[in-house]
Amino acid sequence: MAVLAIRFFGDPVLRERARPVEKFTDLHRRLVADMLDTMREAPGVGLAGPQVGVMDRIFVWEVEDEYGAVINPDIVEASQEMQTDEEGCLSIPGLVYPVERSLRCTIEGRDSDGLPLRIEAEGFKARVFQHETDHLNGVLFIDRLAPELRKEALRTLSGQALGLSVPQRGNAGSQDAL
Ligand code: ZN
Repeated sequence: MAVLAIRFFGDPVLRERARPVEKFTDLHRRLVADMLDTMREAPGVGLAGPQVGVMDRIFVWEVEDEYGAVINPDIVEASQEMQTDEEGCLSIPGLVYPVERSLRCTIEGRDSDGLPLRIEAEGFKARVFQHETDHLNGVLFIDRLAPELRKEALRTLSGQALGLSVPQRGNAGSQDAL
């Protein structure tokens, strides 16, 4: 059991594309356990490899009483029907903005033992899967904001970089951070 260091906005690893996992070993099982610990400690409801500096296509999630890991995730279906809801990110503490996502999606991949999995998700769980899969492609939720909100978010982030305000972990909304 270990809590890993979370990488924050501005760290170039968050903009890199993660690599597919080809061999499933005990290292991946341990990594999944550590990523779950890290996500719960933060606290958050999703965490992707690059957020802890691991460039493997892997994420963990926990929504209500369900949790798990998805390795080499592939969103094979996404509904045309969209839903806009507030979203945050453990790598961008303190920022919460409405993001439009598919209301439903189906994800395929592997579990931490390398066995195939397929999950049909709706609502917040579908949102988490889309957010985490984005992380593996170097995409952050602020990239998906409406243009005026994106400008505001970037202004806030550059203010933080200049030390005008310090990002605080555990702000309001962080329970839903991904
Ligand atoms: Zn995130």
